[in-house]
Formats: sequence, structure tokens, C-alpha cells
Amino acid sequence: MNAATADAALTPAQCLERFRAIREMVGNTPLLAVRFRWRGEPRTLYAKAEHLNLTGSIKDRMAFHILERAYREGRIRPGDTIAEATSGNTGIAFSAIGRALGHRVVIYMPDWMSMERVQLIRSFGARIEPVSKAQGGFLGSIRLCEELRTAQGDVFLPSQFSNAANVEAHHETTGPEIAAQLAARGLAPDAFVAGVGTGGTVMGVGRYLRARFPGVRIHPMEPAESPTLSTGCKVGHHRIQGVSDEFIPPIVKLDALDEVIAIPDGDAILMAQKLANVLGLGVGISSGANFLGALEVQERLGRDAVVVTIFCDDNKKYLSTDLLREEPVKPGYRSPEIELDGYEACPRANLPRA
Ligand code: PMP
Repeated sequence: MNAATADAALTPAQCLERFRAIREMVGNTPLLAVRFRWRGEPRTLYAKAEHLNLTGSIKDRMAFHILERAYREGRIRPGDTIAEATSGNTGIAFSAIGRALGHRVVIYMPDWMSMERVQLIRSFGARIEPVSKAQGGFLGSIRLCEELRTAQGDVFLPSQFSNAANVEAHHETTGPEIAAQLAARGLAPDAFVAGVGTGGTVMGVGRYLRARFPGVRIHPMEPAESPTLSTGCKVGHHRIQGVSDEFIPPIVKLDALDEVIAIPDGDAILMAQKLANVLGLGVGISSGANFLGALEVQERLGRDAVVVTIFCDDNKKYLSTDLLREEPVKPGYRSPEIELDGYEACPRANLPRA
């Protein structure tokens, strides 16, 4: 692509062709049955390998679904600018998919996110607008998107924190895939655990699994150091990028969920490091936290409980962060008592798609 063609809107036929191609690269991930010993006792937990998506995170599902639906409903036009507020993975997903569909993309992002995220977004040809704490951080980013639309007009706002299509993406894809992949092994889920950023994953998968398995537990996970869900506001600091921003997003309905599980960020880092250097699963910090959250729930339900979680993204966005530094072990951490033995990849569900 050269500069002259970079922003040319695609024809409807070209657009359709790109949608078909991208759909093959998003979702339909393996479900990993991770074998380990916990304090010497053999255990298994299940994790969706979302780091294998097109841009390396679960957010590709949401970005793809929101854009596909907006096209279907005529709410986005070729040539519109896509503007989104994001802590990173969403920005990367909308940049890649938005640019592939011929759109300009502007990402408003708190200026304390990892450098890799900023560079990745730039590499896809999107524009980054850093937002400082003084400008309002996450909430400020959302406001700035809306101001751009008021000023410019031809702007599409995915609005991931409030868009029901975010939940729907997981209700239509992630949830059914998990159920089908467990069923292929003769299993049904006892619980699902997921860290909450926008809450799209926990709400969408939760709604689908609850409808099919009424007794299933659905637990949101948050960092112990910064319990936004439990307190309703921004408190403290944490290092699990992508979860627990500064507010409870409108799509999160806590009364539809089971208890919040709190995981220390240092333990999450140690767990993600272990998954990479023992099993070769290069996943991000929230994946380590989710794994520990799933273990916590299995502790409550019993050693054979089928507990499913998410490996949300890959480790490449964290090369400049504490994930690649030595992390001190603190009393109460669980990761040091986990010995990873291996994993089986439950085959992709290959569900029919609309
Ligand atoms: N982990 C990471 C690394 C993320 O980027 C996100 C999305 N912000 C999540 C977890 C949480 O996903 P959701 O937005 O669906 O709650």
C-alpha cells in the first residue's frame, strides 16, 4: 500500500472479501487442558488460547464483531474514521482490522501503557492520541472520542465499554466454542473465570454458559491491589494491563455474576512467566491472573471441577514491563506451589458462522 492509496475507501465487494478473510483469522481458538500439580495434587484447568488470534488477543473477536455488525446495519460508511478509547489490545485490534477494511483509525490511550502497545498500533497505520492522567485517563479518552465525532462528523465510535455488541461477540463465539470443545471431551463447565476490562468476555461467555448450564459459576477476576469491581471506583495501582481500569463499565452487571476473585499482580506475573518458560505458552499478565483465579475457584468447588478461563493475549506486548523482570515471591502467592506438567490442545470447535 502506498501513501496515495492508504486511505482510499474499499468498494463493497473488496470489503466483503476482506471480512471473509479476516473472519478466518479471528476466534475458533484451541481450548487448552493445562495439567499441573497443586501442592503435589494432580489438577487440570481449561484455558482458551486467545493469544492465537490475528493480532494476538481476545479483543480481535470484539473488534471484528462490532465492525461486521455496524456494516450490516449501515452504521459505518466506507471512509469513516474509527475512533476508540483503549488500554491497548482493543486499539491494536481496531487498528489492524479497521485499516484492513480501508478506514482511518484514531486511538485515544492513557499515556502510561506499555511502549510495545503504542508501537504496534502505529505499525498498523493508526494514529495514537496519548491521554494523560490530568486529561482524565480512561474516562478522558472516551470523552475525547466523542468530541472528535462532534467536531468531524464522519467518525464511527465502537464504544467498547458500553456497546452490547462487545458482549454479543463472546455470546456468539467464545461461549459456544467453550461448550462444544468441552462436550467433545464429554465434559460440561462447572465455572468460568475472566478478568474484567470492558467485561465483554465475562458477560458474554457467562450469559451463554448460564443459559446452557444453569448451575455454572461465572466469576469476574480483578487485581487484589486495585479492586475496582469490589469498590466501584479506581483504587490503588496494579500491573495486570487490560483489566480493572478506572470504573465499572456499563456492560458489566455484577448482580448477574458470582463473587469477584482477587489475584495479586506479582503472583499473576510469576504465573505468566511459568507458563512461558515451562510450557512455552507465551501469554500476558492477565492470563497468569486468570489461571490463578481459575485455581481459586477450583479450590472452592473441588479438585475435579471443570473450570475454564482465558489466556487473553500473548507476551510480546510486555517485553518492557515487569513480566520480563525478576519478580519477588510474597507470602500467600500460589504460583510457586504450582508445578506445570503439560497441556493438551482440545481441537478447534469449527462452529458454523453466520
Ligand atoms: N486481558 C487483557 C490483556 C485485555 O487487553 C483485556 C481487554 N481490555 C482483558 C483481559 C479483559 O477483556 P474484556 O474487555 O472482555 O473484559
